[in-house]
Amino acid sequence: MSTEDIWFDPSLCFIGGAWVDPVAGQTLDLGNPSDGTVICQIARGGQEDVDHAVAAAEEALHGPWARMTAPERGRILAKIGQLVLDNADTLARLEAMDVGKPLKQAKADALALARYMEFYGGAADKLHGHTIPYLDGYTVYTLREPHGVTGHIIPWNYPMQIIGRSVGAALAMGNAAVLKPAEEACLTALAFADLARQAGLPEGVLNVVPGLGAEAGAALSAHAGVNHVSFTGSVGVGKLIQRQASENIVPVTLELGGKSPQLVFDDADIDAALPFLVNAGVQNAGQTCSASSRILVQRGVFDEVLDRMAARYGDLQVGPAMADLDVGPLISARQKDIVEGFIAQGASLEKAAQGQVVTDAPDGGHYVAPTLFAGVSPGHVLAQEEIFGPVQVVIPFDDEAEALSIANGTQFGLVASVWSREGARQMRLAKALRAGQVFLNNYGAGGGVELPFGGTGLSGHGREKGFEALYGFSTLKTVAALHG
Ligand code: ADP
Repeated sequence: MSTEDIWFDPSLCFIGGAWVDPVAGQTLDLGNPSDGTVICQIARGGQEDVDHAVAAAEEALHGPWARMTAPERGRILAKIGQLVLDNADTLARLEAMDVGKPLKQAKADALALARYMEFYGGAADKLHGHTIPYLDGYTVYTLREPHGVTGHIIPWNYPMQIIGRSVGAALAMGNAAVLKPAEEACLTALAFADLARQAGLPEGVLNVVPGLGAEAGAALSAHAGVNHVSFTGSVGVGKLIQRQASENIVPVTLELGGKSPQLVFDDADIDAALPFLVNAGVQNAGQTCSASSRILVQRGVFDEVLDRMAARYGDLQVGPAMADLDVGPLISARQKDIVEGFIAQGASLEKAAQGQVVTDAPDGGHYVAPTLFAGVSPGHVLAQEEIFGPVQVVIPFDDEAEALSIANGTQFGLVASVWSREGARQMRLAKALRAGQVFLNNYGAGGGVELPFGGTGLSGHGREKGFEALYGFSTLKTVAALHG
């Protein structure tokens, strides 16, 4: 762990192309989840800083950014992507230190951020309007235009990936962005702003205001100058954001997590499924919106799957991010308390297996042993609520109808997967599962920058990632010319 990688001053906001002190001059401690120490001070941005950032973004919409062609915008995004790639090791170390995720997972996130910028750089000039056949004497066409100022409120679990998917798509469409990273992890958001500056992104096109959710976050989501809000985080705050957006009548994209199931049928290739079954639950210590926290297994293979998952759990090693083990700490003492509270609610259940926190893990780190529960009824709190920690439940089912009913039996609908060799079943379930993404004989498809992502129900609405995101981060104008 080293603060030598922080090449910018983390106690500042990035507004209008410059590093500036927060107006109130206040800072917050940024914690290191691996040992509980303070990494550095970050800005405690507030209303006035958000006002400045929104004003800078509005100004940018009247500057060179507005006159730039889509290919020129795309070229800048691609250049940011190249700089992210050039600095991927440094960014990975920053993310690992800040979020507590094992270094190789943080490196994968840095590469994903670069890929998002490449993808959206290439997509910037590919979303076209249409001509519409209409009445005699008319020519009608549509124009895809930016919303204007986009607000991005992101969580601490995958800062780089979520910056890539939301800011990348917003900038590709010509918006100017104000980003409020999470108070628990904001180093790579600041680093990204500096790389964007180095790549020649015009000033004011990307602004970063760190701070508390109830202060800088609320100021941004309620701001009358913000024309679109994208939020990734908890259901409770998602409701607040949607309520605030209703005051200003602006569109929101909400990605609020899930309780995503994997359905394992008797005819599944269990060897192929096993790594996905466990990794999808414990990756990033389970602090993943699309974590698979429910494993539904047909009775014919239930004992085998449970035993083999339990064996894998027994091998899981938990330790500091820089030790690069299977699982890192949780983000904070608060998150650890929440997850331990859930585990305590499973006291009467069969605890099938647990991973191990390594003996030399620092005392101040927020470590929780990954825990696999069996004998869980589908209605149990552990099978219904998002835990956001390394906890999975294994639930038996008899047939396809029961599997579907359990899978769709939560208020969430983000991701689901089906493990079966039967093609017709795969197709039936892909249609019937309530989820924004369905994976057949895999889970997560390797991250999938190109794959539209988002949920239904309490998992939120709107789609990020892939080309689809460009529709959400733009608005459509219809032009009807009567020329006779
Ligand atoms: P978690 O509980 O996982 O930390 P949150 O939903 O609280 O998730 O946080 C996600 C993001 O939302 C963070 O950037 C946080 O600062 C921000 N946030 C929290 N509360 C509010 C709020 N009332 N208004 C706007 N943003 C908020």
